[in-house]
Amino acid sequence: MNYKTLNTNKLPEFFEKIKKTGKTVLAPRKKGNKTFFATFDSFDQINFDYVQTALSPKSVLFPRVEELFTYKNDDGTYSVKEPELKNEVVVFGMRPCDGVALDYLCDFFLNENPDKLLQDRKNNTTFISLACKSFDNDCFCTSVGSSPAETLGSDLCFTDMGNGSYYVEVVTDKGQKLVDAFPDLFADTKEINKVEQLAQVPVRFELKNLVPKIPTVFETNIWLDQSLACIGCGACAYVCPTCSCFDVQDECNPKAGTRLRCWDSCAFGQFTLHASGHNPREVQSNRWRNRVMHKFNYSVQNMNTISCVGCGRCIRVCPAGMSIIEHLISVEEA
Ligand code: SF4
Ligand code: SF4
Repeated sequence: MNYKTLNTNKLPEFFEKIKKTGKTVLAPRKKGNKTFFATFDSFDQINFDYVQTALSPKSVLFPRVEELFTYKNDDGTYSVKEPELKNEVVVFGMRPCDGVALDYLCDFFLNENPDKLLQDRKNNTTFISLACKSFDNDCFCTSVGSSPAETLGSDLCFTDMGNGSYYVEVVTDKGQKLVDAFPDLFADTKEINKVEQLAQVPVRFELKNLVPKIPTVFETNIWLDQSLACIGCGACAYVCPTCSCFDVQDECNPKAGTRLRCWDSCAFGQFTLHASGHNPREVQSNRWRNRVMHKFNYSVQNMNTISCVGCGRCIRVCPAGMSIIEHLISVEEA
């Protein structure tokens, strides 16, 4: 890994220079009392005062709805057209836990049968994380093996050193390329210990106790007790940076159509509904159990890692006040 510094007052110039190369820059912007990644016209539109964005940058690689291909029937001559993805994007300001989530998501979509659309978007996107200086009650990255100092999944990681400069960790070749494009902005430095500049997020449960415990409580009433408030709205999956379930639908007429991929959620009652009318996850407690089992057991079995990064978004968004932290603690203590 290479290490650089960037004066904080040079950040606007950094963004302007990136934009001049034709790339789209997304940064945190406030909308109401929430912060979302969005394009911006001027530097003062960027919000630096946020614990976590309402949505992760997952949709940059895996959009909520995307066209897989279009097809046509011209009087018996059939043709298929795939989308061309050329837009180059730089995402600034994601939190380190979102980098870990992107690493998981890419592993999921690109490992065995690589998804071309996701691969193209990944190749065209540079992710810059901004290490956390604050946290709230819903953050639990340190309970799931990560921390505000994590660089996995980021191309560049910026830490505000509080002295008018960012400490920049150059994590990938893509990050190096972006830094090399503007050599007058960045200065060389050595590796430093950045931890004391960062949020000290408390550990809420012991992952090493929890992971082996989860399958042992599969048949218990713990899931029913936990899920009584859940209304199955699916918001937790929509904000989750690692949730990867999708549905595929055709919007078509006899002459032409578009095949679309859109996010789905295992919290929905119809998610596992069979054509026969049978539903193996008939009640909400089964669906909640699946969500937690997926993240802390099935992912471990299939991908050798848990698939929760402790971003806390599902807790902040839940209209029923469900807290995955509380539920994981109750499993740990069961
Ligand atoms: S956001 Fe809350 S209420 Fe909605 S599905 Fe998730 S846990 Fe249930
Ligand atoms: S399950 Fe909740 S805390 Fe974990 S990664 Fe998803 S949204 Fe974040």
